Amino acid sequence: MEIVQTGLWGFGEGPLIIAGPCSAESEAQLMATATALKATGRVHLFRAGLWKPRSRPSSFVGEGFRALDWLRRVKAETGLPVAVEVASPEHATACLEAGIDAVWLGARTVSNPFSVDAIASALHGATIPVLVKNPLSPDLELWMGAVERVYSAGIRKIAAVHRGFTPYEKSRYRNIPKWELAIELRSRIPSLPVICDPSHMSGKADLVPETAQKALDMNMAGLMIEVHNDPPHALSDRDQQLDPQGFVKMMDELVFRTSTSGDTGFLNRLEDLRNRIDSIDYQIIGLMASRMRISEEMGEFKCRSGVTVFQLERWLEILRTRTQHGVSEGLDGEFTGRVIRMIHEESIRRQDEVMKNLRSAGGCTATRDDGPEQ
Ligand code: PEP
Ligand code: MN
Repeated sequence: MEIVQTGLWGFGEGPLIIAGPCSAESEAQLMATATALKATGRVHLFRAGLWKPRSRPSSFVGEGFRALDWLRRVKAETGLPVAVEVASPEHATACLEAGIDAVWLGARTVSNPFSVDAIASALHGATIPVLVKNPLSPDLELWMGAVERVYSAGIRKIAAVHRGFTPYEKSRYRNIPKWELAIELRSRIPSLPVICDPSHMSGKADLVPETAQKALDMNMAGLMIEVHNDPPHALSDRDQQLDPQGFVKMMDELVFRTSTSGDTGFLNRLEDLRNRIDSIDYQIIGLMASRMRISEEMGEFKCRSGVTVFQLERWLEILRTRTQHGVSEGLDGEFTGRVIRMIHEESIRRQDEVMKNLRSAGGCTATRDDGPEQ
């Protein structure tokens, strides 16, 4: 695959900065946001969602086709090029006809190869850039498949957008970043720019700058940031949108990587590998924290139910099955055993603490003879 990325398609220098509201809500809201963003001088491309793929049908579904005229006005009056999410061939055709400067395929759309095929056909031969968000689940093949489908439609200006993945556990992120997957995608398709959407990752405005910085540290090729002129009254994704002042503050504080011209291929590669390891370590720690929270809940549950807590067979089964699984995954059995023992010990300590507190508050009917077990 040879993807065109020269200067990120002429939108500007440096990492591509896309900003704008989650949804186009009214002509006035779009104009106010776009005018404020234009004045910052920090935005290459203005974004707005016209057709919103909402989880629940009662939510705001977007202003649809009529909002294309509002975007035309944004472009005419601010000079900012505009980008829109397309989720059907009809959307794609309408965007091409309206002179929209870039389109993106959302996470839900990318999760369905039939939809991607249909949209790619409608965009056939288009000369505007097409951005492909990651699918909802951390499936690199599906993400690559969407990029390939767009490429097969003769489109050569393509970027991927890492917007995080649906969490499998309670998480501080709305959508968990998997930097190692984004980096793997980059190494599988080296000419493909990968940009980051920290807004949908974070789910809350105060986490956006930190996530954006992480993306820049990972050498992502740009950022897509949700900015609304009045976030508390936004009709979608209210919690995660920055206001224009917050956006400028973030942009001023972000540390952009200095030129990599001095870096050798070796150092870049080493950094990519380190970034992948960092990302996995953070996920391991997040999972351990989730596990400990469940242990505490279990300690409380057992205590209140007056259930005897120690079950030797359960611990032996944990040790056996985890070690077996480790070996089947290519890990050393002894190493897996050591790790699981340490986790288990900490889990016992946490259950113990919960029980002690409950008992002293008189809320526990169980007695602890042999120690808590999970
Ligand atoms: C969006 O960009 O507003 C959007 C719906 O994003 P995603 O497809 O990443 O959820
Ligand atoms: Mn959104």
